Amino acid sequence: MRRPIVAGNWKMNTEPGPSLDAMVSALAHHPSILRAHHAGITVIVAPPFLSIATVAQSMHGTAVHIAGQNCHHEESGPYTGEVSAQALFASGATWVLVGHSERRRDAYEDDALVGKKAVAAVRGGLTPIICVGETLEQRTAGITHNVIAGQLLGALAIAGRDVFAASVIAYEPVWAIGTGLAATPEQAQDVHNHIRNVLASAGVSIPVLYGGSVTPENAMELFSIEDIDGALVGGASLKPDSFGAILDAAEATWRVA
Ligand code: PEP
Repeated sequence: MRRPIVAGNWKMNTEPGPSLDAMVSALAHHPSILRAHHAGITVIVAPPFLSIATVAQSMHGTAVHIAGQNCHHEESGPYTGEVSAQALFASGATWVLVGHSERRRDAYEDDALVGKKAVAAVRGGLTPIICVGETLEQRTAGITHNVIAGQLLGALAIAGRDVFAASVIAYEPVWAIGTGLAATPEQAQDVHNHIRNVLASAGVSIPVLYGGSVTPENAMELFSIEDIDGALVGGASLKPDSFGAILDAAEATWRVA
């Protein structure tokens, strides 16, 4: 089912304390949250692990859902420093990012592991947001479609159709993340359409979000693209007003949908 989703990935930013409390309170009471909710848009924020329980408590009763930025592929056990989907769920999260390019790059996560994490997420009661995206070198080499299909099908082979059907995809070109250089509407539509076709060939139809330098300035243009169902926002999600402005663009796009 296609439904609009706007998620904010705070990455390793914010720390527990008064400034986080102020930011969360401003977000919880932001009028854009309520407007987005009334327009049927799912709003998610992904704080660092240590703040998930606090942010979840502060957001209780609002329309904001909480996501983890990662989870382990096992439920429990001898995995020092890891966090399970069950622990995230018990702390108030209902969503989780898996396979973000920063984890593929820094923690060497491959497609099979991403598939396992998606399984663990669904088992633990979380909806996975499975991230895919090509590097600049891959785009320049003209292999973007192959890379994306490989990432999707590699994870799907492990996770299976049912887990994928309960997931969301985020297309995040690596070269667009944190660079200020978002994909053009043509580039985004081309890959989103490709993702939809790859998923359709496996009998899966799920929302496909765009991520990579989404800002209040470009959100409206990106949201108006046919095969885009929302956004995964990094830097611009750290300020309640800029995240709110992106939610307003989503609301303006999908309010009559
Ligand atoms: C992200 O890391 O998921 C992301 C899209 O970051 P940014 O919006 O800052 O490019």
